[in-house]
Amino acid sequence: MDSLEKLRCEKMAEEIADKIAISPALYDALKSVSRSEFAPFSAHAFSLNAQPILASQWISSPLTVARMSMALDIDESVENVLEIGCGSGYQSAILAYMVRRVFAVERVERLVGEAKKHFANLGIRNINLRHDDGNVGWREFAPYDRILLSACASKIDDRLFAQLKIGGILVAPMSEGGAQYIIKFHKISPSEISQENLGACEFVPLISGIQ
Ligand code: SAH
Repeated sequence: MDSLEKLRCEKMAEEIADKIAISPALYDALKSVSRSEFAPFSAHAFSLNAQPILASQWISSPLTVARMSMALDIDESVENVLEIGCGSGYQSAILAYMVRRVFAVERVERLVGEAKKHFANLGIRNINLRHDDGNVGWREFAPYDRILLSACASKIDDRLFAQLKIGGILVAPMSEGGAQYIIKFHKISPSEISQENLGACEFVPLISGIQ
């Protein structure tokens, strides 16, 4: 990362930290992962707004990425995270800075190709990205300590809860009565899942099937 990019990422991280409480690990990740690599328009790369990317999809606002990352309660015990809806790849890259392994699924093939290029350009090697409908999760590498949905669901597929470790956390934007909320689920036992509403949010919808 060149020094200007580093400075701009630092400023962005500070701006986010002024708005919400973030952990030192997340602050480091925001400062260290090149935002310009993932954002399509360099003039807006550091804005705290979401922006359009390929295939009528959006790169999440870095503030949203920070909120979702904090909701996951990442600590040293977390080894692997599954993200559904990798899009630009920025959220996965932030998580990959904080945990050992990230698995990500994206339903739009062109976005998978682009995200893989971004990871390669930045030398990120601990993200495995797959082109698939994320509703099925990614069984091969399950169970996961954390699962993050980056697109808004009306219901969480049972297969995703099945791929979450006991004691694990799943965070998802969920639609209810025309609004969207960030819901944090705790898997307490194989059959017991508690949930907590972390407030309103805005995401593109989770869509079944691939493109
Ligand atoms: N995490 C991304 C956010 C991208 S927007 C970022 O940091 O930029 C949400 C993404 O979810 C879109 O790319 C969309 O194609 C994808 N998506 C929607 N439904 C999906 C599904 N069923 N499986 C996998 N990806 C899905």
